[in-house]
This record gives sequence, C-alpha cells and structure tokens, in this order.
Amino acid sequence: MHLALEQFEALLEKVQAANPTADVARIRHAFTLAATAHGTQLRKDGTPFVTHPVAAAMITVEMGLDEDSIIAALLHDSLEDTALTYDEIVKEFGTSVAVIVEGVTKLTRVQYTSKEEEQMENLRKMLMAMARDIRVILIKLADRLHNMRTMNYQVGKKQQEKASETMQIYAPIAHRLGMQRIKWELEDLAFYYLDRAAYDAIVRDLDKKRESLDTFMSDMQWKMTTRLSEHDIDSTVYGRIKHIYSIYRKMYTQKRTFEEVFDLCAFRVIVGNIADCYNVLGHIHDMYTPVPGRFKDYISTPKPNMYQSLHTTVLGEEGIPFEVQIRTWEMHHTAEYGIAAHWKYKTPGTDGKTEDKGDEERFAWVRRLLESQQEAGDAQEFFHDLRIDMFADEVFVFTPRGDVINLPAKSTPIDFAYSIHSAVGNRMTGARVNGRIVPFDHALQNGDIVEVITTGATHGPSRDWLKIVRSSEARNKIRQWFKKEKRDENIQHGKSAFESEMKRLGLSMDAITRSEVQTQILKRLSFGSLDDAYAAIGYGGLSAQKAAGKVRDELIHLAKPGKSLVDRINQTQQRPTTKAVRGIIVEGVDNCLIKFSRCCSPVPGDNVVGFITRGHGVSVHRRDCVNYLNATAKPEELGRWIDVAWADTGKETYQTNLTITAKDREGLVLDIATALTTMKVRVRSLNAREINGKAVAFISLEVSDIKELQNAINKLSGISGVIDVNRNSV
Ligand code: MN
Repeated sequence: MHLALEQFEALLEKVQAANPTADVARIRHAFTLAATAHGTQLRKDGTPFVTHPVAAAMITVEMGLDEDSIIAALLHDSLEDTALTYDEIVKEFGTSVAVIVEGVTKLTRVQYTSKEEEQMENLRKMLMAMARDIRVILIKLADRLHNMRTMNYQVGKKQQEKASETMQIYAPIAHRLGMQRIKWELEDLAFYYLDRAAYDAIVRDLDKKRESLDTFMSDMQWKMTTRLSEHDIDSTVYGRIKHIYSIYRKMYTQKRTFEEVFDLCAFRVIVGNIADCYNVLGHIHDMYTPVPGRFKDYISTPKPNMYQSLHTTVLGEEGIPFEVQIRTWEMHHTAEYGIAAHWKYKTPGTDGKTEDKGDEERFAWVRRLLESQQEAGDAQEFFHDLRIDMFADEVFVFTPRGDVINLPAKSTPIDFAYSIHSAVGNRMTGARVNGRIVPFDHALQNGDIVEVITTGATHGPSRDWLKIVRSSEARNKIRQWFKKEKRDENIQHGKSAFESEMKRLGLSMDAITRSEVQTQILKRLSFGSLDDAYAAIGYGGLSAQKAAGKVRDELIHLAKPGKSLVDRINQTQQRPTTKAVRGIIVEGVDNCLIKFSRCCSPVPGDNVVGFITRGHGVSVHRRDCVNYLNATAKPEELGRWIDVAWADTGKETYQTNLTITAKDREGLVLDIATALTTMKVRVRSLNAREINGKAVAFISLEVSDIKELQNAINKLSGISGVIDVNRNSV
C-alpha cells in the first residue's frame, strides 16, 4: 500500500501544478475510498490493485482532464470489482462522477471477439455511442493504456486478445479524437504483442542506426535553432524517431525494407504564434530544398480531428529527405491530447461544479469546428461518428454470438429479428434482452445482447408490428410476408383503408362502381382488379392516400367531355336557339334561371356542367368540382346533370374565390390589396387570419374569364412570403 500512496502523492503534485485551485481533499477522498474498496486485491504483478486506478488517473491528469474525470478514473474499477455502489458514489462525489464511472464500467463489460473490419467499425461506434460523455472514452483510453503498459504480467492468450482489441478498437478511437500521443503508444504496445518478431526486427535495425540518426538529428536541430534565433524567432526545435508501428506500416504498405524507409526521423518546430509558423517555413525552405507536393497547410485547413500544423518535407545535406512539422504550443497540445485538450483550457466554474454543463455545450465547439471543415477528407466520417454520440440516432446491439447489429435508435426486438433474417422475424414469438424476456415494443439500448425466441412453424408477423418497428428493413419484410401470405385479409384491410381515404377526399365509393369508370381507374392504378389494388394497399405496397388521389384525378379526367356543347352546336349548323343567360348556354333550355355554385365558383374558360335544381333553375359547377364528381355516382340523379357552355359575351364578370396561404409577416395584406388594385379585377372581400402560424387570406373577386383569374393567381403567387394560391373548390 505504501507504493500506492507514494504514487498517489505524485499524482496530487501533478494535479496541483496543473491546477492550483483543484480540490485536493476531494481527490484524496476518492483515493482513500478506492484503496479501501479494492482492499487487498492484487494485480498480476503483485502490486496492490489500487495502483492501477491511480496510474490511470495519472494519465487523465497528463491529458489535462478535469477534477471529476480524475476522481472517476480513481474509481473506474470500483463498481465492477468492489462492493462500492453507484448511489454511494453519487453521495460522495455527485452525479457527474457517478455517471462517468458507470459509463466506463459499461464499456468494460462489452465483449469482443475478433471480427472483420466492418464489425470493428460498428464496435467503435457503439463504444462512442455508449459513452455519451466523451470523458468516459478518455478514461477508458487511460485505463487501456495503463493495462497495455503492464501487459507483460498477463498470460499469452490474454495478451493477444487485449492487443488486437487495442489495435482495432482503441487506437483508432484515440486517432479520431486527435490524441496522437496515446494512439502511438497504444499502437506500439499492441504491435509488440501481436507481432513480436517484426517489432524486435525494427527495434534492432533502429538500434544499428541509432548513433548516426542521433548525430543527424542533433546536427539539424542545432542548425535550425541557430538560424531561427538569428532572425529573432523564439522556437523549440527537436527531432524524434518515428514510432515503431508507423515504420512497420510504411514498410508493409509500401513494400519496402527497413533500409528503404528514409524518413525515419521527423522534426518539430514549436513557436509562439501562427505568424512565426509561416516565418519558420520560409527559413526552412530557404535552408533546404523542399520536396514538391509534400507541403501541407493544416493550419488554415485543420484535420477533422482538430490537428493543426504546417508539414513540409525537405532534402537534407546528404540528400536524405526528412519531415518538419511547424506549430504553436497550443496546436502542439491539441495534437498530443486532441479532444482532451479542451479541458486543459477550460477555466473551472466559479461554483466548482461542472455537472450542469450538458453534452451539447461540451460538444458545441467540436461541432463548430467540424462544420467549418466539411470539405476536409474524412470530416464527414468523423462527424458521423461523433454525431452518434451527440444525437444518438443509432443503436448498437449484440447477437448472442457477439456480432454487432446496427439499428435505428429506439429499435425493437422485432427490428433486430428481421435484420438477422426474415425467416427469424416471421417465426418470432418473443425476445430476451440481456437474458430477460421483454415485450415486443421494448426499445433496445446500446450494448444489449438480444436473443430472438422462435417457433418451428412460420406463424408470421402481427399486423401491429408495422406500427412498432423502426427500421425500414423490418417494415418491408413484414409487408412482404403479408403480401404473400394473407391475400383475403389484405383485401379487407386495404378496402377499408381505401374507403376512409376516399371519404376524406369527399368522394363516394359509388363513383367507381360503374364498369366503364372502373376499367379506366384500374388502368390508372395499374391493377387488374379492384381486389388486387386493395390487396396491395393491405400489405402496404400502395398507399391508400395515393390510390384515392389517382382515382380522384381519373374521375376529373373522365368528367371532361370530348367535345363541348358549343362545338356540337356549330358542327350541326344548328342556329343556337338557346339564349345565353349570365353568359351560360343551357342545352335545350331558354331563359332558365342560372346560378353559379358557390362550392367551385366557375368562371368562363372553366369546363362546366349544369345541375337542374328543384325550383331554382340550373346551378353551374366546374367539371372538376368534388360535388359533381360524387354526384355522377348517384344513378338516380344522373338525369339531372345537363351540358352547359359559356357563351362568348365578354361583358359579364363572375365572382370567384381564392385562398392565399403565406408566411405571416407585417404588411402582407397590404401587399395583396395593392397587387389586386393594380389588376383589373374587382375585389368583393378580403379577409386574412392566422391559422397554424401561417397567414391565410380569403379573397372574393370578380373576373371576366379564366385568363384574368390566372393572371391574378400568378401575380398573387409572386408576392413575397406567399406559399400557395388556391381556387376554392369546396
Ligand atoms: Mn481498469
């Protein structure tokens, strides 16, 4: 225990150096609690277990994380391995710490087996999604880093498992988060266990070259430092040998031997401000010949993971190329610690609390940064990954075999079943999540292990499932089943859905019973029989809304006569004995009372039809009027519809109505009124009111024909904010 205490005092020292206002007593309390909870547990190397959380906490301090993170790191294994409870952590350190500790614990429980790359990508996303608070991921990385550093005490099989998990899951996550320093160390440690021979070979080769590399690096360092200080640029220059795994990857991907990898070392020049970065670049390009095409300005265009620097490759004196990275201290910190650097520069809240600050605020700056660089390489991909964390529109669950299945958020066991196979969904009778039976509409959580309970027989899905499922895959597969298996039921369901949709449109079902009408309608719907169409609606292949809309269109189309009454009159050379009343000629009737129906207020140019009313003469409707379309279905009234036509008088004006829908804004009504007065139309009334946040104006106006009306509609549509101008037809 003495060892752990000593280690902890070193941690406190570091915390205080980084943040003099840190609550040392609170951190010490966390250590005492962790030490007590882990008690006499030992690590594989024989040291007290608590040395591990202290070491992980030390890494979080190096990352620059906040006090809550340090405390959470100290407690990160206590929920899983000791008697300490979530509530106790809440009581002692607040919800924020408890939530982080719980998050890390959950990630620790996730089971891995070696998988193909696509599965790995899902696993990485799942971890990010599960973490919610990015600090959970950062502490998990610290935890993993310390475990990898002490992996030599584990048995070989465990080493292999942890190393491949580190290489495939944790190093890429560190990279995404811009934490190069941790990424490199994780990669080198994992590489060491995964391919010891290759690792050793590179180390051996490097050792052979070590002396000449060191000489080269200190020579270059001296030359660059001297030059820069001569020009009054305050800089820190250093050379470093590239990390082992990156050399290996270069050899592997470019099929080179170690001897053929030239750029084994790279230089960094760190300066105080951005202007000096470009000054330094100028001096270096003056001293050495730049290699064409190798200059990269990540200062003006940062990498998606926030990395900023100038990169250039130049030819050294012996013609050996080497890379120089130029950056400010702040950029340097971001390059080393990535997303974690955010906490470094955040001033602690005055009340000492940070738990009120939601993820939104914490991520806001990351999002801004990402949005500003959408065009940069894998920015989209990175943004997508982070989005899962922020907006959680996906959920990742496991099959009992350990495969990761990616579903839309709030997906149910039904979605899961159909994503495995439609046969699994069609045989599903229930589901277990994490070993417990759950209802069909149970919303799956990240990391759940889902098991579908099936019967041997295919009994098929329930129609209600269509309302429960979240994924289109499940929805389609369920529809497929109904399409194939349940024709009678589909017809029944489809018919009632279609009927209520027709009703909604104000159309009666009788409208389509006449055989010649039905033939045309079926043609329009592309079905052989009404039952076929109903069946399609029933299983969801055709929407009832769409079908009813097409029927309506077809009825309007059929209502248009091939030739107008006027044409027929002219054709037969018959003297028009009928006299126009109010501009309307009624077939075979003189001087009858004419009125224009209010439901569709027709104007000359509209296709019209007359209805013989009881005692009030002929009422004129548009042929696309819903009332007419419905009425044609009533056989007993068919005889009362007669052909009418417009006489070309050009003297009368006709009243009609328009409804304008617009964005509610000041001066809208005035603009409408002004537009109308500049036209020849006479406005009878103009009323406007707000409906559902939009301005709706009802206008009654007089026009001489459809042309004039169309002009008015065009003009009104052009008014700023107007969404729709519509002729009332009801
Ligand atoms: Mn741990």
